[in-house]
Amino acid sequence: MKTQVGIIGAGPAGLFLSHLLNQHGIESVILEARSRAYAEGRVRAGVLEAGTINTLNNLGLGDRMNREGLVDNGLDMRFRGRTIHLDLPGLTGRSVKIYGQQEVVKDLIAARLESGDPLIFDAEVIRLEGLDSDAPRIHYRHEGIEKTLDCLFVAGCDGFHGIARAAVPEGLIQTYTREYDFAWLGVLAHAAPMADMTYTNHDRGFALCSRRSMSISRLYLQVPLSDTQEDWSDSRFWDELHTRMFDGNGQEIQEGKIFQRDIARLRSYIAQPMQYGNLFLAGDAVHIVPPAGAKGLNMAVADVRVLCRSMAAFFSTGSRAGLDRYSAECEQRIWKTIRFSVHLTGLLHRFNEHTPFERGTQLAELEHIASSESAQRMIAEQYVNLSDVAD
Ligand SMILES: Cc1cc2nc3c(=O)[nH]c(=O)nc-3n(C[C@H](O)[C@H](O)[C@H](O)COP(=O)(O)OP(=O)(O)OC[C@H]3O[C@@H](n4cnc5c(N)ncnc54)[C@H](O)[C@@H]3O)c2cc1C
Repeated sequence: MKTQVGIIGAGPAGLFLSHLLNQHGIESVILEARSRAYAEGRVRAGVLEAGTINTLNNLGLGDRMNREGLVDNGLDMRFRGRTIHLDLPGLTGRSVKIYGQQEVVKDLIAARLESGDPLIFDAEVIRLEGLDSDAPRIHYRHEGIEKTLDCLFVAGCDGFHGIARAAVPEGLIQTYTREYDFAWLGVLAHAAPMADMTYTNHDRGFALCSRRSMSISRLYLQVPLSDTQEDWSDSRFWDELHTRMFDGNGQEIQEGKIFQRDIARLRSYIAQPMQYGNLFLAGDAVHIVPPAGAKGLNMAVADVRVLCRSMAAFFSTGSRAGLDRYSAECEQRIWKTIRFSVHLTGLLHRFNEHTPFERGTQLAELEHIASSESAQRMIAEQYVNLSDVAD
């Protein structure tokens, strides 16, 4: 099989890229290691910035998002039993949209399959060859048979544990990492959500109340890395959430049936440069941010918008200039986004290594934000828009 762009991975990065390329008449084939059901069922991100919303709309695929997505105008932060309310439109003129990543993925997959363009599930890429040549070759396994895909460019959109980044010869990519020694236990529950996205920094740890619809809450607790889902019965989860949210009489947070749970460890990671020869990396394959800033999906979409623009320029003019600049063009935006996510994580979580002195300065920063509109605007601006790029 032959194509212009071989895309590894049908997560948000790979799927958005395929549709963007298609708009420019550029052919692609997507190879996805997992099944369609798995790709569509993976519950992860839910906050969409304007850049992501506009991209989906410009592709003509935003109908369901516009019908079912919820506009989020507020971001609340609690500490010492008080609430700082960030009025996002008031502070920035913008808001964000709540629409689950798995819904975005479903919409993108449905449109791709409808168009008849190749998206092959259960096709695990096992080896990449000739990445520094004009004729890269992707080796993959499908239905028990080893097959090849020849292409001009390979897009490594295969997430943090994918094969593409690892295919770059050692020493050519520099990585920067920060691991956290806690995780997020996330649940979905059939329960009416709180009106605003609400973060809390409690002596017992961080918690977050978010939503996926007017009847489904997305809720998180900071937990030790060693905890498993079995450690958290439903009643223990709800009790802890009420406590950390300063919901003393248990009336504010609605409880309901928990129907999905996961534990995600937190890390910050960036690999540079994001390209090698004719391999271009995007999304979680090259950067991970702790989820507090709600940025991972939005960053992935911004990456592939830049990548698509560079590829489109190549196919229309023959110039590699944009492709050669791809990584450099993305890096500053990514570092800024990592900085914001790391800052929010540091502001809102309890750290084992914190001395009473550091706890004091953390709470003092929250006090400062509570009393300063400029400080609130700084957070709000970065929350609503760090991932917009020129198309
Ligand atoms: C708990 C949690 C909450 C989050 N909340 C938010 C949020 O609110 N907002 C936000 O913006 N982001 C959030 N994120 C981050 C966001 O989900 C990711 O950044 C996003 O999924 C990245 O998309 P991607 O396409 O780069 O990678 P992925 O979604 O990881 O997709 C990569 C795909 O590649 C496939 N693949 C891997 N290896 C191979 C191979 N060898 N061959 C073929 N296919 C392969 C995988 O199966 C996968 O489908 C959250 C993440 C987590 C874990």
